[in-house]
Amino acid sequence: QPPPGTYPGRAIIDLAAISQNVSTLATRLGDNGSHAAIMAVVKANAYGHGLVPAARAALHGGATWLGVAHAHEALALRQAGITDRILTWLHAPGVPYRDLIAADIDVSVAAPWAAQEVISAAQAAGRPARVHLKVDTGLGRNGVTPADLPFLLATLIDAQHAGHLTLVGVWSHLAFADEPHHPSVREQARVFDDAITIVQAAGAHLEVRHIANSAATLTAPELAYDLVRPGLAIYGLSPIPQVASAAELGLRPAMTVQADIATAKRLPAGHGVSYAHHYVTARDTHIAVIPLGYADGIPRHASGHNGELGAPVSINGVTYAIAGRVCMDQIVIDVHDDSVRAGHTATLFGDPTLGVPSAQQWADATGTISYEITTRIADRLPRMYL
Ligand code: PLP
Repeated sequence: QPPPGTYPGRAIIDLAAISQNVSTLATRLGDNGSHAAIMAVVKANAYGHGLVPAARAALHGGATWLGVAHAHEALALRQAGITDRILTWLHAPGVPYRDLIAADIDVSVAAPWAAQEVISAAQAAGRPARVHLKVDTGLGRNGVTPADLPFLLATLIDAQHAGHLTLVGVWSHLAFADEPHHPSVREQARVFDDAITIVQAAGAHLEVRHIANSAATLTAPELAYDLVRPGLAIYGLSPIPQVASAAELGLRPAMTVQADIATAKRLPAGHGVSYAHHYVTARDTHIAVIPLGYADGIPRHASGHNGELGAPVSINGVTYAIAGRVCMDQIVIDVHDDSVRAGHTATLFGDPTLGVPSAQQWADATGTISYEITTRIADRLPRMYL
């Protein structure tokens, strides 16, 4: 990362918003009669918001678990002094299970090779692993299928009897959580319930059963079980944008991406703008150059093409749109007049209730989902924490 104060752009992270969003989810669960605990999903650098600060903010807001995909993220949370429960779930052979077990991190097991490596690592670490058995209830991704469950379960139960691990959880992930009425949601829940029954019948005393991400937490409280795993919602973005906006869900976006205008200047009518001149000025005008580009994680798909403008940008309370191609480090805006000056602030996205574009609008403009908009913001863009 560039030294603080030396870079003309920033991602401002409102940590209070993250705490508040977690607490909003907790209240909502409680209102629906659920006592589920909250695992804040902070993988992928907390969806771009900064792993450790976001994790602390989520814990402050009432989360009691943290969830990450990769071992190094879990270990980084421990190294930062966080002592709360952490689950890590995406492993390939050779993952440092021994370090995870020694650091008291819960691990997911989704395949026989993982069970074998966890058992060996627990023996080497001299303490039992805490294992969450991941079941593929229909997503068709990671997890043991119901057909292969008995074999893996037998291995885990034998290892539990031998003192190498404790099977504390059974968990899964939904394919259509963002379409709450999709029949597959109910079908996955049924398969999940069957898997839980089988695991309990084998003698496991489960501490946590979990399947709900943000969308399910918000739309299907009956799927909250003992623990929910929201990610996107804790960053204040809607996982069901077709159904409800973040504001309608009571969520506050935590990330605002801004930059200081590098140059503002006059251009005559008929002048091409940025590579390949996909935008040509229709009249004498003024352009502003924003010193952010795809090297900062701004999608090149946010470009304007063939005369059409691209993604929205707010400057001095006015919303413009990107003119021409997004470059590696720069974006150009046709600001029409000389009211925009070098040093003025351009806001790409943030909290739309404050009059700036939302990450969802950026997602719509670039053909993606808001998850990708915040997660791809590059490390070189300094994070400023409020
Ligand atoms: N659980 C798992 C296994 C995930 O992979 C993710 C994120 O993709 C989440 C929970 C959180 O999902 P969301 O951000 O939709 O709440």
